[in-house]
Amino acid sequence: MSSPPQIIIPDQIKPQDGRFGSGPSRVRPESVEALQAVSKTYLGTSHRRPGVREVVQSLREGLHQLFRLPDDWEILLGNGGATQFWDAACFGLIQEQSCHFCFGEFSEKFSRAVAEVPHLNQPALEVSPPGIHPEIVFHPGVDVYALTHNETSTGVAMQLRRPPGTTAREALVLVDATSAAGGMLFDPATLDVYYFSPQKCFGSDGGLWLGAFSPAAIERVEQLHSSGRWVPPTLDLHIALTNSRLQQTYNTPALATIYLTLSTVEWMLENGGLSWAAGRSQASAAVVYDWAEKSDYAMPFVAEPYRSPVVATIDFTEEVAADDVAAVLRANGIVDVESYRKLGRNQLRISLFPIIDAQEEAALCDCIDYVVSQMQPSSTSQP
Ligand SMILES: *Cc1c(COP(=O)(O)O)cnc(C)c1O
Repeated sequence: MSSPPQIIIPDQIKPQDGRFGSGPSRVRPESVEALQAVSKTYLGTSHRRPGVREVVQSLREGLHQLFRLPDDWEILLGNGGATQFWDAACFGLIQEQSCHFCFGEFSEKFSRAVAEVPHLNQPALEVSPPGIHPEIVFHPGVDVYALTHNETSTGVAMQLRRPPGTTAREALVLVDATSAAGGMLFDPATLDVYYFSPQKCFGSDGGLWLGAFSPAAIERVEQLHSSGRWVPPTLDLHIALTNSRLQQTYNTPALATIYLTLSTVEWMLENGGLSWAAGRSQASAAVVYDWAEKSDYAMPFVAEPYRSPVVATIDFTEEVAADDVAAVLRANGIVDVESYRKLGRNQLRISLFPIIDAQEEAALCDCIDYVVSQMQPSSTSQP
């Protein structure tokens, strides 16, 4: 890549906050201030004592309410993030064989982790090219289906449903909701585990996984626990279940991550819950996709009905180098809109997470237009 042109974006058109990454993503300043306010009473205190355990309890109850879960569902949490949850699922949720719907880096990564596990059969795979997703179909003999609500690498969202002809008793539906949870609506009846890391829509920090578990999923965890299968304690979902019920994690968690996540959950609940939060993402999506559709050099990569309301991928015509645009934006303090590397497209990837106001997205679009107009001498007026 050649060095990006020196372009100064005027302050008046810039967004107030330059963070548009799809994870880690923008953290609300109000959450950081709230954390600062409890820095001497909460941070640096024991996670086995009431002060922290009450925050964990509020987080578990808050997510239960936000997701409108039935009473017999439970929120579990543990250290390590969604990637580590995949390894935990290989021990505590998949009995013999899983089926994965792969349509980008994250959905594929889970299937690759499963393929290496000696006590499991090779996973069944349904694969589609980037930009769409495979159809959710039935596979005989499978005891776990792995879906992804939003494929963060490509900006493709999936309408969740159980594969036709299955029930939770035979096959659990696990949904990687890492970049969707908090920004998209879902119906708990369509799935058994909705898991995520909190550094995306929940504008927190990484290192933690959280998951909403149905009674069937909890039953599976208990059943595999009593089957005698060996499991490393840090990946043991039965240990995670026991500890979560005590408002704890098995080993020491990042207390700041827990606090920041709760702060966002409470902000969403105070303002009307998940439909309000998802509405914010939809408003941002309308701004960014409308801008791209009207632009003569940009266009949405993903077509309906696959287009994501939480992560926009925007292709550029070949005359405009997206990497150069991203580099100029970065030099001006607007960061993390680079495309997902492995996708290898001339595009930008823009977070539409609920924390970001639609006006901020509009300002970002203005800045992109400004940068492109300055990069193309033909389209700037000559003095
Ligand atoms: C970010 C992401 C992950 C990985 O999350 P970590 O916290 O880094 O483990 C997994 N799946 C999806 C869909 C993601 O967006």
